[in-house]
Amino acid sequence: MECSICKKNEAFYFRVYEGVKLCRSCFKKSIEKKVRKTILKYKMFDREDKIAVAVSGGKDSLTLLTILKKIESKFTSAKLLAFAIDEGIKGYRDEALKLAEEHCKALNIPLKIFSFKNLYGVTMDEIMSINPSCFPCAYCGVLRRKAIDKAAKELNVDKVATAHNLDDETQTFLLNIFHGDIYRLMRSGPKLIDLENRFTSKVKPLCEIPEKEITIYAYITNIKFQSLPCPYAHLALRNDIRELINKIEEKHPGVKFTVFNSMRKIKEALEKHKVKLNKCKVCGEPTPSNICEACLMLRKLPAKSFA
Ligand code: SF4
Ligand code: ZN
Ligand code: ZN
Repeated sequence: MECSICKKNEAFYFRVYEGVKLCRSCFKKSIEKKVRKTILKYKMFDREDKIAVAVSGGKDSLTLLTILKKIESKFTSAKLLAFAIDEGIKGYRDEALKLAEEHCKALNIPLKIFSFKNLYGVTMDEIMSINPSCFPCAYCGVLRRKAIDKAAKELNVDKVATAHNLDDETQTFLLNIFHGDIYRLMRSGPKLIDLENRFTSKVKPLCEIPEKEITIYAYITNIKFQSLPCPYAHLALRNDIRELINKIEEKHPGVKFTVFNSMRKIKEALEKHKVKLNKCKVCGEPTPSNICEACLMLRKLPAKSFA
């Protein structure tokens, strides 16, 4: 099977949704080109941006960091750094962070770690032992988003780049529909810029790349990443949605792109109806309510148990 691009090397991957067969080298180049195109299409960065990449030690974030490092080397006035959020999940995040540290060191990118323990006084493992019946991902997601905002402020960056891929984006869209969470639906999509500067702008340069292709990119680029799933992941509704979309994609290739584009159109329509944001009465962060979701969640936990 010959590569459809270089017509020279043997192809190892058939990209069904484009109908092209790719060799390793053309596959790698195609992913890097796609990331560059996504950055340009959504005008994600300015030339002099200080960019912080949120890394987790997984394939997506380490791939993003690798590709952005390549791009950044051509834009000398931009600055790239990395940060990680340690939720405090033993045997999982600690392992992943070691890999993130090694990767950042190899790329010569400074990495700063922010932990739930330092930010909130409690780890995810402690939350689960205090409240075993809670949905870990609901807590983890809300607290991590807040931690990312805090990290971005402390690092004083212009943009935060997160490694959400096409699968993540379609799953999140459907999750928000399942949860009836219109505010979060408005905050989804490839780029989130706050013109009033209440939170740091966020961009997702991998949002148009399927997860499977990022995994292949990481393997052929010899990126060492955390491949074990989080011990709490099986409890997440996201898993059921992932399975459902993957089944549909198998029968109808390209459906993930369709969902992604629908999400963008719905978001554009919703943007005309601006949600008024208040300052959270506890932490001062922007929220559509009086108290933000993270503070409400933390309030529900008995403070003494983790002091
Ligand atoms: Fe957090 Fe859930 Fe992800 Fe685990 S699977 S890191 S608990 S969001
Ligand atoms: Zn080729
Ligand atoms: Zn708050």
